[in-house]
Amino acid sequence: MNIFTKAVHAGDRKKPGPQIPATTPIVSATTFFYETTEQLDRVFGNEEPGFAYSRYDNPTNNALEELATALENGYGALACSSGMLAIQTAIHTALLDRPKRIVAASALYGATLNMLTKFFEPFGVETRFVDICDLDAVRVAVDQHKPGCVLMETVSNPLLRVGQIDRVAEIARAANAALIVDNTFATPLLVRPLELGAHLVVHSATKYLAGHGDVLGGIIVCDESHHGTLRTLSRTIGPVMGPFEAYLTMRGIKTFPLRMERQCGNARRIASWLATHPEVERVHYTGDPNHPDAATVARLFPVELLGAMISFELKDAGRDQVFAFMDALKMILRATSLGDVHTMVLYPAMSSHRDIAPKQRERMGIGDNLIRLSIGIEAAADIIADLERGLAAARLRARP
Ligand SMILES: *Cc1c(COP(=O)(O)O)cnc(C)c1O
Repeated sequence: MNIFTKAVHAGDRKKPGPQIPATTPIVSATTFFYETTEQLDRVFGNEEPGFAYSRYDNPTNNALEELATALENGYGALACSSGMLAIQTAIHTALLDRPKRIVAASALYGATLNMLTKFFEPFGVETRFVDICDLDAVRVAVDQHKPGCVLMETVSNPLLRVGQIDRVAEIARAANAALIVDNTFATPLLVRPLELGAHLVVHSATKYLAGHGDVLGGIIVCDESHHGTLRTLSRTIGPVMGPFEAYLTMRGIKTFPLRMERQCGNARRIASWLATHPEVERVHYTGDPNHPDAATVARLFPVELLGAMISFELKDAGRDQVFAFMDALKMILRATSLGDVHTMVLYPAMSSHRDIAPKQRERMGIGDNLIRLSIGIEAAADIIADLERGLAAARLRARP
């Protein structure tokens, strides 16, 4: 079935009684009751399908998990209360019976980087960072460090580099390491990492999947070999999403392919407009034929769906010009998230990469003139008009 169809139907219409709700309701009950203790005993013992306690299974969450599994073509899923908790739970699942070492992409979401260095490392799980786009470097790192898992993002933030998931999966598999892919930026409409050999896929559902800026959530979708461990770990630790959030996420997902398709279309127009603008030094966009990973994008992404994130560098600009640009925007939201229906702008040097020393930021390619856009579903002409307003304001601000 096509992903547009799955998004609308998968997970819905489970039979709770003679009448079946057309869409999945919110089941807020924490416990479930049976006519006989015999039956409850069978449910507890996993001999009969059913619900016992909502930390184990909840009908609303299970419906979302079935939907997410269908979208990513996985074996099973777990809905978590945030994207970060999904990443942590995926790592614990992957490392349970493997060496407690990680090889991770050096370009990672800021909180993920902090999780690895400030929390996993003090607990004895050491991470070796590597340029995930350099397969030789990945091979060497896996060979030397002998990790239990490899962690990467489909599209990196904010420079939008794209690693070869299938090739990294081969390297990881040959070393008996699990590959975990954070697919938040690409979404399953563009790339389905499990089909490319990854073992676990994680999402911040807060972003494109829920898509409306009103729910914090995470989702893990995994292959058959990790499903038992994932569910047992979840039963014990309890990283689960609340049923209200599961409902909102499911509702959001019904229109996610539609939104994403339009966001990708808008991004394509806006990226090419920005590329010719005299105030713009450089545009980073996965649909750019001169993108450093253009060959990987051409191999792994659908022809017309090339991503909806754009980063660009203001010409001869520093913090003052970037602030003038951002303050002049009337419609685009100066906000920290991405993937929502509304267009958002973020200044990495001020937010996601604030704690990194300016010199190191510069080395990473994240200058003080770099701005990140998450393109929404508005009319492209209105987004462009707002950007033009911002760029005009930046031009008028005195240069550094
Ligand atoms: C936002 C984000 C996360 C964290 O998700 P939360 O839902 O905010 O916990 C992880 N990875 C990526 C790529 C993200 O964009």
